[in-house]
Amino acid sequence: MSSRMSRRSLLASAAGLALAAGPLASVARAAAKTPKVLVIGLDGTLLNRVKDADAPNLDALMAAGLTAPSSIYANPFAPTLSGPGWSTLITGVWPDKHNVKDNTFTGQKFAQYPDFLTRIETAKPSLSTYAVSSWAPLTDTVFSSKVDTRVSTPSAEYDTGTTSRAVAQLRDANPDAVFVQLDNVDHAGHSYGAASQQYLDAVHGVDTQVGQMVAAVKSRATYASEDWLIMVTADHGHTDAGGHGGSSWPERQTFMIATGPTLTAGAVRYDVKMPDIAASALAHLGIAIDPAWGLDGRPVQQPAPDDFDALRPQLATRVDETGIGAAVIGFTHTPPSGWSVDNSAMGTGGVTEWRGWSFTTDEFWTKAQADQNREGNIRARNVFAVADGDEWADKAFSGSFDSALVSPPYPVTAGAPATLTYTTYYRHEAPQKGEVLVSYDGAAPVTVKTYTADTSSRVEKVTLQVPSGARTARVRFRYTGGNNWYWVIDDVSIKPA
Ligand SMILES: [Zn+2]
Repeated sequence: MSSRMSRRSLLASAAGLALAAGPLASVARAAAKTPKVLVIGLDGTLLNRVKDADAPNLDALMAAGLTAPSSIYANPFAPTLSGPGWSTLITGVWPDKHNVKDNTFTGQKFAQYPDFLTRIETAKPSLSTYAVSSWAPLTDTVFSSKVDTRVSTPSAEYDTGTTSRAVAQLRDANPDAVFVQLDNVDHAGHSYGAASQQYLDAVHGVDTQVGQMVAAVKSRATYASEDWLIMVTADHGHTDAGGHGGSSWPERQTFMIATGPTLTAGAVRYDVKMPDIAASALAHLGIAIDPAWGLDGRPVQQPAPDDFDALRPQLATRVDETGIGAAVIGFTHTPPSGWSVDNSAMGTGGVTEWRGWSFTTDEFWTKAQADQNREGNIRARNVFAVADGDEWADKAFSGSFDSALVSPPYPVTAGAPATLTYTTYYRHEAPQKGEVLVSYDGAAPVTVKTYTADTSSRVEKVTLQVPSGARTARVRFRYTGGNNWYWVIDDVSIKPA
């Protein structure tokens, strides 16, 4: 087909749409606003301390948009340091892909998993990209030379210089995507601890700088015809006494505060993860995310909750666990609508929270016992299912852990292949076993996948050969073992292959 032909037919169909549908035409007008992105990274900033601090500009962003508390990994997956943290936010993949495990960046795979500004330059070279950072490794190493402008602020100027450069760019130039990193909250955390007044004062200081950048955006002569997605985030948290790198819950903290036309004012969400920053920026600029890129991030503008996430309001506080704070939610044994748990072969006794499959959160589950690799469960989101023989066996029990998580019947096409997709994480010790079985129209389940070795956090895709005549498929995730380790399941679906 000639390009002239295709252009003509496109014009014809566009004209037909405009004539046929008034509402579509108004959508088209709204979409005609120029999309732009501003990402502001506040090194080592804790969301709960933002709430404690005098931070009117961040408070205003939260009131106008989305607040999403989130958490990251710990060793041995990766330490809670700036190198892995910023690399994750900026590339949209977790450290097992970008391979930054410390602040030396040795072994980084930025050629395979580039920063989001580089992806923008590759997809839409005419767009203007700008990065400025108080911490030079970001603009020297993480962002590539494909970015139009990269500025590492001289250390004598620190966050003041970073802010003034960002403000000048946002106010006087015409950038499409801007990344800014401010460092002083982390500095205060190291010097005085996150529990200190100095840390709150530093939050107040960067809040003022955030306000200057937001004001610069709003002062643009073309602001009314622009569509800004503004995201504020952090690379890791801090301990009360000061410091990070370890596995404690405060060190593993991050967040996204975001304002944009598709985000609901005052919304709070628990499904947002660190790589979503890059994915959201790309999506906002109309760049289609190619599955071949292997991004772990999802656009925050396109929430995709799974069945387990609906359980969050009914999660309860601890029963037998002692390491989890009394106020922390939570867990439930009650599955979501359509799901069931078969505990007919399950042993008795043990720790109540983990008797058979449970539905829980990263906070509750990792606080059950730190430093046993549960922190590496980075691809599960919000509420997920866990079978944890290790924690169950921490109280007197008899029998073995034998529990099956059973899905609703998914519609399938007889005789056609289908894809079973789920997010998983499995830590092994014999005689433990994880089995995935599928039953068509209630027939005897057949095993389609078995876990008997450590399996890092991943999205699994299993091709199913749907028998002729079959109309539905149910999945069973059966964990058998005892005082061994655990298995995580999240985000299950069966769709045509
Ligand atoms: Zn630090």
